[in-house]
Amino acid sequence: MDFHHQGLDITTGQKPSEECAVAGYMGNSAFTNIIFALKALQHRGQESSGIATYDGKVHIKKGMGLVSEVFTDDNLPGNIGVGHNRYSTSGSKGLENAGPFIISSSLGYMGISHNGEITNTHSLREELKNKGYIFFSSSDTEVMLVEIINEINKYGVYDGIKKAMFKLKGSYACAIMINDKLYALRDPFGFRPLIFGKNADGYIIASESTAIDSVSGKVIRDVKPGELIEIDSHGYKSIFVVNHEISHCMFEYVYFARPDSIIDGKEVFNVRYNLGVKLAKEYPCNADVVIPVPDSGRSQALGYSVYSKIPYSEGLIKNRYSDRTFILPNQKERYDAIRIKLNTIKSVIRDKSIVLVDDSIVRGNTMKYIISLLKRDGAREVHVRIGSPQIIAPCYFGVDMKTKDDFIADNKTIEDIRKEIDADSLGYVSIEGLKESIGINDLCLGCLTDNYPDVIPTGAKPNYT
Ligand code: SF4
Repeated sequence: MDFHHQGLDITTGQKPSEECAVAGYMGNSAFTNIIFALKALQHRGQESSGIATYDGKVHIKKGMGLVSEVFTDDNLPGNIGVGHNRYSTSGSKGLENAGPFIISSSLGYMGISHNGEITNTHSLREELKNKGYIFFSSSDTEVMLVEIINEINKYGVYDGIKKAMFKLKGSYACAIMINDKLYALRDPFGFRPLIFGKNADGYIIASESTAIDSVSGKVIRDVKPGELIEIDSHGYKSIFVVNHEISHCMFEYVYFARPDSIIDGKEVFNVRYNLGVKLAKEYPCNADVVIPVPDSGRSQALGYSVYSKIPYSEGLIKNRYSDRTFILPNQKERYDAIRIKLNTIKSVIRDKSIVLVDDSIVRGNTMKYIISLLKRDGAREVHVRIGSPQIIAPCYFGVDMKTKDDFIADNKTIEDIRKEIDADSLGYVSIEGLKESIGINDLCLGCLTDNYPDVIPTGAKPNYT
């Protein structure tokens, strides 16, 4: 891959990227409640945003960009709606692939917001095309929607969705509206998070609990893996649960989710703090100061500092107003660019031995630049501690992990990686340490072990950029 021609975000772009946030609302001011929820979930996707509401007919708006850029002075009518923020891993980046997707059939209107990745999209699309269905996008969500409609037409809503679940492979956490009823649907593995709650105006479904907080709501509970929940003006009911071996994505805890979210009963901040404590136990260090890579390493650095009794300090400051992407033509300009995005606090790092903590390393370029920046500005030693095990394999379940060849940990020893990034020492938390820190045994560890919880269908593409 030609590094020089990428629009590369040098402080975050080399991290795995989540592809979507979903929200659904049933009650007064559905549009406003969904806007608040999508803003609280902006970290899960910044490429496009969309909302569809229903008041006897469907009202929909989608656009490229952040929620605040897409929705300026809009107000879509209706007491039910679904919303979506997208980061594309499947399909092209155009507006035609932005969520939510809406279909009109003899059933009425159905709209879907989907987070995840359908791994058998290709074969399902061909099968549905042979039945006469036409597709307007390259999105796996459209295939999922058509598959569900196809089964609902034969078996009715509940049995139709259940039949579709047995055909859909991969990951999906969805807010669905069918006319004036709202549904929450989570795949049987429970890869992606999905939670629902209530506020003064009605019921909300969202990818993370912080979205429920953002509308002053109270969490009712997580949607169970394999569960379909129906919400109407009278309340909610669980329609069915398809039981399966559960595999929650460990990266939701390590990196994607907001630290103030609670996912499947575990507070994300606490998990990251625990990872820092584990790192301090597994890779102790004689150093002067613990500093995080902002913002991703903060909670882990705090845990490391408290357990090791080495003082914590901010030592790197991120410029939150610099552009999200850069074209970086040469080495010097790359260093200049990182200076615009990230700078050091000289008094904290000069002549110090530093424990530098981050949540993960994918390609390693960013870490290498940060270490070089710290050393050029006077750090004596930089000891790197990483709050996840080495990433060695791609993701097929909705996370953009770059290509396998790009993983710095691919076929390399820890010592090889340490030399490559020019750290004085390097430690990744162990897989056992990761499991204990999350406190859940039923985890997907596919990108760490190359051993996936489900068979990957022939022709399925990993989530590469
Ligand atoms: S392969 Fe990795 S990123 Fe993908 S779902 Fe599994 S744990 Fe998450």
